[in-house]
Amino acid sequence: MESITAVKGFKDVLPPETDKWRQIEMTAHEVFSTFGFKEIRIPLIEKTELFCRSIGETTDIVEKEMYTFIDRGEESLTLRPEATASVIRAYLEHALHAAEAVTKLYTIGPMFRRERPQKGRYRQFHQIDAEILGPDDPRTDAELILMLIHFLGKLGLRNLNLEINSLGCAQCRPAFREAIISFLRGREEDLCGDCRRRLSANPLRVFDCKVETCAEIVALAPLLPDFLCGECRGHFEKVQACLSLFDRPFRLNAKMVRGLDYYTRTTFEVTSEFLGAQNAVVGGGRYDHLVRDLGGPDIAGIGFAIGFERLAAMIPQGVADAAVQGPVLFIAALGERALETAFLLCNRLRMKSIRVEMDHTGRSLKSQMKRADKLKSRYTLILGDREISGNKAVLRTMQTSTQEEIGLDCLEETIIELAR
Ligand SMILES: [Zn+2]
Ligand SMILES: [Zn+2]
Repeated sequence: MESITAVKGFKDVLPPETDKWRQIEMTAHEVFSTFGFKEIRIPLIEKTELFCRSIGETTDIVEKEMYTFIDRGEESLTLRPEATASVIRAYLEHALHAAEAVTKLYTIGPMFRRERPQKGRYRQFHQIDAEILGPDDPRTDAELILMLIHFLGKLGLRNLNLEINSLGCAQCRPAFREAIISFLRGREEDLCGDCRRRLSANPLRVFDCKVETCAEIVALAPLLPDFLCGECRGHFEKVQACLSLFDRPFRLNAKMVRGLDYYTRTTFEVTSEFLGAQNAVVGGGRYDHLVRDLGGPDIAGIGFAIGFERLAAMIPQGVADAAVQGPVLFIAALGERALETAFLLCNRLRMKSIRVEMDHTGRSLKSQMKRADKLKSRYTLILGDREISGNKAVLRTMQTSTQEEIGLDCLEETIIELAR
């Protein structure tokens, strides 16, 4: 019979890669909680309308990439393509805004987009998502960005390059939009089909277009910073001043508009050097109307989403290795009585939080020692029926290849002592 494989675009994450993933997750839990964030776990499936309203009908995600289905002919549901909309949906549904003036939430998990399969891109991918909901104080923006840079640095990412921009607000963005539309209208025939189609609905998307002719046109386009109102300008200057307090270099990038409709004011992206080139690790920004657009009160928000797969690929292997240790003890048991004693000892020590491994198949001492080596065990306990009759066992320190005899009666205590 032909064996069943994973669905195209979906991928298994195997050890030791999973060690790295766990290390990233643990670092996120630690760093984010230090900055006052609480974890939220949200469903993988939401009503389709949530994403149409939040991400925007005219984005690639909603137009082409969502996994949407009609559930038993009743309701249109979608596998979440990103987390922010779900976080806000939950935030409103449980009235978290009534409990606290500022709510800091993060979540880690899979997202789904039906993208064209290509190397390094998966239809189920993972994100680390953090959101701050509350007043739109510029210090909040700086704090979120500082936490992000600190987190990436802690994972061993080097040469981090932070770029920021301001997208303006409901007062000043329309003027920019008008200027962009009239600029692009004059060059409409040179734009790609997608951009031409989006021109009136979502002209800012042209900034993200990868088609070369579009990029050439954008290079000459009017820039957002020239259109910012006084308040937006003040907000953006304060964000920059706050970042400067921490000696975190950043670059202004007026062309960074981000892919999603809902961003306002501060947006940011971090790239890091990887395989000799700068690679985007994370992007995010402020969304001051999204909570209201989803039916909530007028509460501002800012957040980021880190691509987990990309991040994992960029992290030096040593960071994960350091976190993953071999067993303290490997028990090489020979003979039925020895196996039983080993089984008992092995599991009792595990219940005392000591990492112990053994081999149940009763293979030769040589092959068991090989396995102990491969697992990078600190000690190996050699236990044969003869040793058991003599009420003793041989303890081998793997690094120095030295051996000593220890009594069976005090075995457990001895190992606990060694594991300290
Ligand atoms: Zn403004
Ligand atoms: Zn284009």
